[in-house]
Amino acid sequence: MARKVLVLGEVRDGSLRNVSFEAIAAGKTVAEGGEVVAVLLGDNVNALGQELIQYGADRVVVVEDEKLSQYSSDGFSQAFMAVVDSEKPDGIVFGHTALGKDLSPKIASKLETGLISDATDVEVAGGNLVFTRPIYSGKAFEKKIVTDGVIFATVRPNNIAPLEKDESRTGDVSKVTAEIKDLRTIIKEVVRKASEGVDLSEAKVVIAGGRGVKSADGFEPLKELANVLGGAIGASRGACDADYCDYSLQIGQTGKVVTPDLYIACGISGAIQHLAGMSNSKVIVAINKDPEANIFKVADYGIVGDLFEVVPMLTEEFKKLKV
Ligand code: FAD
Repeated sequence: MARKVLVLGEVRDGSLRNVSFEAIAAGKTVAEGGEVVAVLLGDNVNALGQELIQYGADRVVVVEDEKLSQYSSDGFSQAFMAVVDSEKPDGIVFGHTALGKDLSPKIASKLETGLISDATDVEVAGGNLVFTRPIYSGKAFEKKIVTDGVIFATVRPNNIAPLEKDESRTGDVSKVTAEIKDLRTIIKEVVRKASEGVDLSEAKVVIAGGRGVKSADGFEPLKELANVLGGAIGASRGACDADYCDYSLQIGQTGKVVTPDLYIACGISGAIQHLAGMSNSKVIVAINKDPEANIFKVADYGIVGDLFEVVPMLTEEFKKLKV
C-alpha cells in the first residue's frame, strides 16, 4: 500500500542532523513506494531542503517563522500540524532525539494515533509493516505491526542506514504558511554545556569512562583516544555522580542511549542501568581490571587491565594506523 509519509528534518546549529537522513530511509520503507515528504521547521532553513532531497526525500515543505528560531514544543507542534493539515499524511517519522521525544507524543495525541517510539528497524514482512523496538532496557526486542491510523514512529539514531547521498537528485522545496500563535514559553537564550567535538548520540565511536577513571583528569587519556578515533566521550552515572564529568555525558537508562559502531568502556562495571544505554552498540570493547566485571558479558572484546596503561597503548597503536 503506497503511503504519503512526512519526515522531520532536524536542524542543529544551522545544519541537518544525520538522524534526519536515517528517518528518510525509514520513511521510504513506511511509504511502500509512496511519497516521502521532508518537513523543515525553523527560521531561515529553506536552503537545507535540497540536502534532504539528495538523501531520498521526494520533496520538502518548509515552515519558516522567527518564532521557530529556537525549538519549543508549542511552536513546533503548531507548525508541524499546519503541514499535517495541508499534506494529510498516512505516516510520520521523526528521529528519536531529545526534540523528537518531546514533539512526537504531542503530535500523536493531536492526531489521536499511536506512536512507535525508539524503533531500531522497520521492514515490510508478510505484507505488514513491522517495526522493531527494544524493551526491558534493551534486553529484548519486540516487533510491532501497525494496521490502521496514521503510522507514526521515532527512529533511534545510528540504527537505520541512510540512503546514499545523490547530489544529482532534485525536487521541489515549497513553503507552507502556518499561523503560529503567541508562544507560551519564550526561549531567550540557550546556554550550551561546553561539549567538545562529536555529538555523543550520533557518534560512530564512543569512549566512555566510569568510576574507574578516578578523577576529572582521569578522562584525559580517554579524550586523547577519542581524538585519534574521531569519537565522542561518554560516561557512566558513577563517573557523573563522582563529579568527574558533566551529566550531559551520562549513558544509560537515565542518560543518553547510544548505538555507535565502536563503544570502548573504560573502568565501567556494567550495571544494568548502564547497559540499557549502550548494549546495542555494534562492537563493544571493555577495559576493566576486574575480570569478573559484568561489562565483559556484553563485550565483544575484553581487556583485563589498568585503563591508565591500556588506553594510552591503544591510542599509540591507533595513531600508527592513521599515519
Ligand atoms: P562502578 O560500579 O564503581 O565500577 C567501576 C569499575 O571500574 C569497576 O568495575 C572497577 O573494577 C573498574 N576499575 C577501577 N579502577 C580501574 C582501572 N584503573 N582500570 C580499569 N578498571 C578499573 N548508571 C549509568 O551508567 N547510567 C544510567 O543511566 C544509570 N541510571 C540509573 C538509574 C537508577 C534508577 C539507578 C538506581 C541507577 C542508575 N545507574 C546508572 C547507576 C548504576 O546502577 C551504577 O551505579 C553505575 O553505572 C556504576 O558506574 P561505574 O560502572 O562507573 O562504577
